[in-house]
Amino acid sequence: MATGTLTIDLDAIAANWRALDRQSGAGVQTAAVVKADAYGLGVTRVARALANGGARRFFVAAAEEGAAVRQALGPGPQIAVLSGHMAGDTEMIHDLDLTPMLNSLEQITRHLESLPGHPFGVQLDTGMNRLGVELLEWQAVAPIIVDAGPELLMSHLACADEPDHAMNEMQLKVFHEMTDGTGLPRSLAATGGILLGARYHFDLTRPGIGLFGGRPYEAAIPALTLSLPVIQTREVSPGETVGYASAWVAERPSIIATLAAGYADGLPRTLSNRAQLWDGDIACPLVGRVSMDMITVDITDLPEIPRELDILGPNQPVDVLADIAGTIGYELLTALGPRYTRRYQERPA
Ligand SMILES: *Cc1c(COP(=O)(O)O)cnc(C)c1O
Repeated sequence: MATGTLTIDLDAIAANWRALDRQSGAGVQTAAVVKADAYGLGVTRVARALANGGARRFFVAAAEEGAAVRQALGPGPQIAVLSGHMAGDTEMIHDLDLTPMLNSLEQITRHLESLPGHPFGVQLDTGMNRLGVELLEWQAVAPIIVDAGPELLMSHLACADEPDHAMNEMQLKVFHEMTDGTGLPRSLAATGGILLGARYHFDLTRPGIGLFGGRPYEAAIPALTLSLPVIQTREVSPGETVGYASAWVAERPSIIATLAAGYADGLPRTLSNRAQLWDGDIACPLVGRVSMDMITVDITDLPEIPRELDILGPNQPVDVLADIAGTIGYELLTALGPRYTRRYQERPA
């Protein structure tokens, strides 16, 4: 095995979905966000595991991603497209029965004219200023659009991972202003919003990162292990250096292992000289620069030479590694490259 193995615990992901589902009342539905190939973990297997666990509604970023989810799940589950109804997507939206979340008057017009009667939702901008119909526009057209029967009115919180941030209450208030009295199903909360409490749950929640064990859902069951094979080991004398730019200098007689993954596999170069690799519970420092296809690790303190070491796992979950790299769990996960073998763990049904 010359490339790393990313082991994905589908039972843990399904259990995290059920736990987040239980955090809201009986009348609140819980969807699952599986954009970007299910945060880099492989949307076919992840979406199927979530559907088997009870999820009936899925969100993706683009219609093309919706095609992969429909292929995985077959007819039935709702697949909502966050980028809405883009020019050129009409046929795909129709043929694959996707539900666009319309973001602008232009998209609303396009959808109602090209696919009258086809399900849609509307995304409203409550202050994030990224996607969605704005307050004044909405006030002008709401009665007509509400009559057309959207399946969902939704918006997205900018600061939900900071419970005390004033934006949360402000966006909640604007969302009420824009949607109270419509009688339509509503959704405001992603993972962070679920944790803010019942006032944010409305009729549907949309967790993504929490399903995969990422912050801010600290209670998640860890779902990932990334193991990297040792290609070669060598002894290095005090004063010798390791890797590009000779960025690490041995201070003692050391054993250095070269592992098969680098920045081309989504290990940020900012991990150079900073992260730990794990042999079970024993930490081994990453030494020197991360290169394109390899990293080097000081394994001097291990009792024997391991076949592989873990860079993600219970001892170093994704957010810990992301902190070391100066990024966030979302970015680290979605950067995990195509060279890893993705191995799925699932109890037989
Ligand atoms: C990505 C996204 C989600 C999921 O967010 P998490 O923080 O991963 O739970 C929900 N809604 C929208 C609009 C999104 O873009």
